[in-house]
Amino acid sequence: MALHGAAIGVVLVRPQWWPWALSAVVVDQLVLTAGGLWPRSHLLGPNWTHLPPLAAGAPATAAAPAAVAITIDDGPDPEVTSRVLDLLDEHNARATFFCIGERIDRHPALARAIVARQHEIGNHTYRHLMRFSLLGPRGVAQEIARAQEAIGAATGEVARFFRAPAGLRNPFLEPALTRANLQLVSWTRRGFDTVNGSAERVLESLTRHLRGGDILLLHDGHAARTPSGSAVILEVLPRLLRALAAAQLASITLRAALAHASDCGPVSPLSGVPS
Ligand SMILES: [Zn+2]
Repeated sequence: MALHGAAIGVVLVRPQWWPWALSAVVVDQLVLTAGGLWPRSHLLGPNWTHLPPLAAGAPATAAAPAAVAITIDDGPDPEVTSRVLDLLDEHNARATFFCIGERIDRHPALARAIVARQHEIGNHTYRHLMRFSLLGPRGVAQEIARAQEAIGAATGEVARFFRAPAGLRNPFLEPALTRANLQLVSWTRRGFDTVNGSAERVLESLTRHLRGGDILLLHDGHAARTPSGSAVILEVLPRLLRALAAAQLASITLRAALAHASDCGPVSPLSGVPS
């Protein structure tokens, strides 16, 4: 906005400079658009692409925290989510579920089960519109607020983390998140498990270069199916959890990672984390 104002001011005072003023505005728009289309970019505001370093006194060093966060999007799903919860329990793992608000309204018991079993629910908008990044300030704020209401009504919890549908954003998102006290989270790596039905390939994408601090993305809703017909996450998750155990990496919620980081002191929860 300031740049646009400055450009108009320049043209008013020095009309012959209009090509420079116009170029600056065009470049600004291109950078903002690129930042919004690139889910892991930090151009549009703080964005967790890794976990913050864990607290001093934790078994790992700050540079290599011994935990990852499994994040599971687009549920709750009546066929998949309870089986995902069972798999997580079997491996004593915790996860963060970025749920779609209207799906919570349809399946509130599943949302309650997620929280009762010590996982976390994040805000993934109310309707998961593919045109979310084209909404104006009011539309963005409404999608966020309605999802917060659905989460609160079903579970009594207030979500602390937000993920945009497909990770696509626009410059109106950051102010809305700040007002709602939500931290934007993208991911370190994802398996494209809504389109890839090969459990092997999804697992390979998630575990290649796996290290502490990673945020991994899987889906219980909109899940692709394996050749045997099951949701990909159900075949990937047991093997991923075994790989984490072999690498001595715990799976924790984002809230737990934030609590560790706050204990640590210098990392401000809303300042974002360098990738
Ligand atoms: Zn999604």
